[in-house]
Amino acid sequence: MSTTPLLDDERLTRDEASARAEHITISDYEIELDLSNAMALDEPTYPVTTTLRFTSARPGEDTFLNYLGDSVESVVINGISHQVAQVAGTARIAIPNVAEENEVVIRSHSRYSHSGEGLHRFVDPVDGQVYIYSQFEPADARRVYPNMEQPDLKAVFHVTLIGPDTWTLASNGHEIGRESVSTGIDRVQFAPTQPMSTYLTTFLAGPYARFESHWDNFDGVEPVPLRIFARQSLAEHVDADELFRLTQLGLTWFHEQFQYPYPWGKYDQAFVPEYNLGAMENPGLVTFNESYIFTSQATVSQHMARATTLMHEMSHMWFGNLATMKWWDDLWLKESFADFFGTKAVAEATDIPGAWQSFAHQRKAWAYVQDSYPTTHPIVADIIDLEAARQNFDGITYAKGAAVIKQLFHYVGEAAFLKACRTYFERFAFSTAQLNDFLTILEQASHRNLQQWAPDWLQTSGPATLSATVADDGVVTIHQDAIDPQTGNAVLRPHTFYIAALTLNDADQLVVTDQAEVELPAGSASVVADRFFVDNSAPRVVLVNHHDYTYAQVELDQASLEAVTKYPIINPDSTAVATVWSSLWTMVRHASLPAADFIGAVARLSQTIDDVSMHARVLAQAVTALKEFAPASRRRQLTKQLSTALLDALIELEPGSDRQRSAARALTQLGIGTESLAPELTFLLASDETSEMSPGLRIDDEMRWLLLGSLASVGRINKIRLDDELAASPTATNELYHRTAVAAMPDQVQREKLWHQVVTGQEPDGAMLSNAQLTATAQGLNSSAPGFVAGQLTPLLERLLDIWQSRSNNLASRTINGLFPLRHQPVKGGPAAQHNHPALVHIDAWLAQHQDAPASLRRIVIERRADIALRLIAQSK
Ligand SMILES: [Zn+2]
Repeated sequence: MSTTPLLDDERLTRDEASARAEHITISDYEIELDLSNAMALDEPTYPVTTTLRFTSARPGEDTFLNYLGDSVESVVINGISHQVAQVAGTARIAIPNVAEENEVVIRSHSRYSHSGEGLHRFVDPVDGQVYIYSQFEPADARRVYPNMEQPDLKAVFHVTLIGPDTWTLASNGHEIGRESVSTGIDRVQFAPTQPMSTYLTTFLAGPYARFESHWDNFDGVEPVPLRIFARQSLAEHVDADELFRLTQLGLTWFHEQFQYPYPWGKYDQAFVPEYNLGAMENPGLVTFNESYIFTSQATVSQHMARATTLMHEMSHMWFGNLATMKWWDDLWLKESFADFFGTKAVAEATDIPGAWQSFAHQRKAWAYVQDSYPTTHPIVADIIDLEAARQNFDGITYAKGAAVIKQLFHYVGEAAFLKACRTYFERFAFSTAQLNDFLTILEQASHRNLQQWAPDWLQTSGPATLSATVADDGVVTIHQDAIDPQTGNAVLRPHTFYIAALTLNDADQLVVTDQAEVELPAGSASVVADRFFVDNSAPRVVLVNHHDYTYAQVELDQASLEAVTKYPIINPDSTAVATVWSSLWTMVRHASLPAADFIGAVARLSQTIDDVSMHARVLAQAVTALKEFAPASRRRQLTKQLSTALLDALIELEPGSDRQRSAARALTQLGIGTESLAPELTFLLASDETSEMSPGLRIDDEMRWLLLGSLASVGRINKIRLDDELAASPTATNELYHRTAVAAMPDQVQREKLWHQVVTGQEPDGAMLSNAQLTATAQGLNSSAPGFVAGQLTPLLERLLDIWQSRSNNLASRTINGLFPLRHQPVKGGPAAQHNHPALVHIDAWLAQHQDAPASLRRIVIERRADIALRLIAQSK
């Protein structure tokens, strides 16, 4: 229907965006969404009216808006009505021959989303209530209203929402006007925003339960009203006091750090269903994944994860929302900083323990994995279009970026770093910036030359490996080994870090007995540690990157390896335990430590790990090591060893404690597809807090469904029982557990049916699977029946392009990652023979035949291929 195919082009390139920004300045948008029909589920769309005012420095040129709506009814440009068919395509609206000052008014309809992208509509299975929220980053505001979708065209937004008068209707600004437009329907106006980017606009509508408080304990700064929203059926579980307390602590802390008043008026936090990510930093109205509302017993580790997300989003109110990256190349300029300051805020502003430990062990593990894939990239990436931007929300941009910021923070010192942040906000408030803008300010603040540091760290790829050797005289030399996988060149980066020696105390525990700071200059492959000696005559550990100041994989020398897998480390206040276990896990993945040795160490030592997050993670890694990295011939014996340790832990760890619960969770994961554990799991399912086998362990919704899922996977529980359990408590979370459990049942015909449902994204009655439903089913299949999903590799490969083209980026990625089989039987002939494994050969053939497939799709396939290869090699050793 459009005059030019360009108007149907969803892609937006960096060049197009920069050409548009060269002459356009937007003053404001007026956006009105009419959601009064939202409860009519057969109504897939809602009316939208958008008015956009902008100036052009080059009158007479053409420009365009981005819009992925359902239909466009009218386009009026500077008072002249245009033929819709001539100016509107499926992805863009042309604005020919712009004037110096322009006003465009568009009436259209947009679609409710079920993928979590755009304006998502959800029906609560408990009470049938309808809930709506938006999610736009990087470029889905255009699914809701026509706009110029690029971060550097900031504007003021005037938002109006129409909806049921009993609902919460909210947006970035606070409510400034309300009128009734018909029976039961209100029209609500919100305060105009400060200038901001389109991806940060947000809309919330539904009968959300609401909690209110405020923050006002900082001199000279306006009080900030605080609200929390969640579905009514979750309201009883909302620990609003705790959430408000964290929010208040955070606001105080960030004001002290940044010394720039919170710029967005109110601070709302909404917990929303079927959310694709942890949270989104919309100014004045942050949206969170509602799994952060804990409906079952939550561990300290879950509380810490939630607090870290809360603080991450809060730091975005400055890093990202106030000063924004010009284009997605510099996404790290907000995400790395938010990850770093989010963790620092939890460590310094709250009483929740273990933030930096978790950063070292969990967040950085994500970075090391991503950075070792053939698809890795520099922190500052080359993002040519929106599709590339979408793929960049990864372990490099977030976790590696934050780890490198942590190193930079220690390199220049705290005072200089914070001074630079403050100058940066003053200079770039309500504007956009690039890498060099921040680095220039930091150089001035720190008087350190970053000309070498920045390219070494930000424009190269791959983790370095740091290791230590100890000479006979006790002198320690530290070695750096780093090849950029993208260029094949050595990148010997500058590192500042600590080295520690751990030796045995009287109780046969490893404790830190000496430490020293080491500076490894740029270009150096090794350096001798000053005034630091190690006695080799007794068990000892030499630990590089004690305190975790730098970003590098740490390789333990043989004597250290022997000591850490035999003796517990007692070092509660530092990251030593985290660094050691992180290093062991990396060695398992790279087949330099047998999975059996790792599992043995976990079985022996996990009870000595006090940090709840790390304890939980090490147990989960042991289960993964067993199922994916250990040779099949060893699994029966290793299952026995690990399950015995976990069952002992249920009795020996403090009743009702977080660590006991983590052990129970790990046991249910080990139990998936493991017939031999069925008696114990059946017993647990029927038990309560008085049980001798698990004193104090609460069998609440979460624990109950984990047990049901494991037992269903070995045929000990049938579908009727699962349906009855769901009918007894039909919450949205239980509905997903139910899906996973059904998919895990050992029923070949049903498996095939469900596999096709995921591949097509549809249930038999034609209903579309939502993002969360899709993942729940895929997870059940993949975790319980590795042989079945492995057998489907060829049909999956045949459908990859179809899947990619037929649904949104997010749904397609979920489908493919969800069903991709990672677990295969190795072929005979040891590690070398695995390169000719049929699975890898098939994938390579697909890659060779699909050189032109979308880069993001190829990236997924290449990364999953790498995952399979690692597992085959480890299993075949
Ligand atoms: Zn973020």
